[in-house]
Amino acid sequence: MAGTVVMKFGGTSVADAERLKRAAARIVRAKEGGRRVVAVLSARGQTTDELVAMAEEVSPHPDPREMDMLLSTGERMSCALCAMAINDLGHRAISLTGSQAGIVTDTSHTKARILDVRADRIREALDGGAIVLVAGFQGVSTSRDVTTLGRGGSDTTAVALAAAVQAEVCEIYTDVAGVFSADPRIVPRARKLPVVSFEEMLEMASSGAKVLQLRSVEYARTHGVRIHCRSSFTDQPGTLVLGEGETMERPLITAVTHSTEEARVTLLGVPDEPGVAGRIFTALAEANCNVDMIIQNEPVSDGHHADMSFTVPRADLPAARAALDPLVSGLGIKALSADPEMGKVSIVGAGMKSHPGVAAQVFSTLGAERINIEMISTSPIKISCVIRGEQVPQAVRALHAAFELGDEDVQGERPFGAVGSSA
Ligand code: ADP
Ligand code: ASP
Ligand code: MG
Repeated sequence: MAGTVVMKFGGTSVADAERLKRAAARIVRAKEGGRRVVAVLSARGQTTDELVAMAEEVSPHPDPREMDMLLSTGERMSCALCAMAINDLGHRAISLTGSQAGIVTDTSHTKARILDVRADRIREALDGGAIVLVAGFQGVSTSRDVTTLGRGGSDTTAVALAAAVQAEVCEIYTDVAGVFSADPRIVPRARKLPVVSFEEMLEMASSGAKVLQLRSVEYARTHGVRIHCRSSFTDQPGTLVLGEGETMERPLITAVTHSTEEARVTLLGVPDEPGVAGRIFTALAEANCNVDMIIQNEPVSDGHHADMSFTVPRADLPAARAALDPLVSGLGIKALSADPEMGKVSIVGAGMKSHPGVAAQVFSTLGAERINIEMISTSPIKISCVIRGEQVPQAVRALHAAFELGDEDVQGERPFGAVGSSA
């Protein structure tokens, strides 16, 4: 039987009629090349942002179920239009919503997780010779409501479908040529990475490299899906995300990533008693807030209270406040304050596991730029620093230069581990 390919087109790649037709032509080319084709489409251009703004105009805290009914329409629009364009090219295409495609999720509206993919209808359509177009970013919950998968979720739709139909490859077509050593919008001379390991891509995605949604990378690793992230505007190969065993020896540092969408919450005077932290973070988990870094200071002068800070995505701040407000009085916490203007810069590289001195170089590089580090967290292959949001671009450029990650720097193999004198 012919091989199957899943092709996912992001918002910029279907933003106007001309681009949508170009995506249709690329889909048709794959089909004419003898492959069974499933294409996943995102909402066009800024459509999802516009739908969010529309909801906020009529309601300060839109009901999550209704929000999902609204947000899911953007990708349906793209799919139906693309099917029309494909049909005009003389091929048969059928567009499906996430629900029709058999994507079953849990019930957490606006950030639902895929539980199962019942792909019979897709398989039947492929067997019948059709091209199948699936609306990205959405599914149907176990209580039969429409759900969405969190911002950037069409990547996860594509990977989940690739696993379900046992595709040879899941191609993610986007507005950059692949995964780079930093966001090319901030560092124009960033280097395109021909391959990146799952381990590194997970850390990159979780620290802000939105080129692939974190869950799509997790799903691909668990289900053994091959991801090829590439440009929708050229035929050049992009970046392959591979298992650790398939990648060659990697440089010390692979990429600098960033996020400008962080908020910091500080709780002053938290009673220093067993169980209190558990109650705070259980409340946040139940409110579906993704807590990232956590710092607790030593008990202050009275010996019975400590201060605690943590970060959440800025979008989760209202939910975090709502979850914590009742606890502040209930537990006798002295005050809650929040700073929504935080950012984060991280360096990721599998090579740093066995190399001391990388953290020192990160801190001195930021210090030389007079950038204050407010919080730090590390994993074996990542160092993240929370800094002021407005200083993020400067920090990214400085770290990218200090670790010599640019195109011209890596020409000719750099000796493994050579990062500069203070490392
Ligand atoms: P799509 O709409 O195709 O899903 P996204 O906007 O979600 O595209 O992701 C692509 C964007 O990710 C790029 O335009 C780029 O600005 C950003 N990005 C951030 N970090 C990286 C990186 N390390 N490599 C490539 N792109 C990155
Ligand atoms: N349209 C959705 C978003 O803007 C999903 C996606 O593009 O992947 O987040
Ligand atoms: Mg995306």
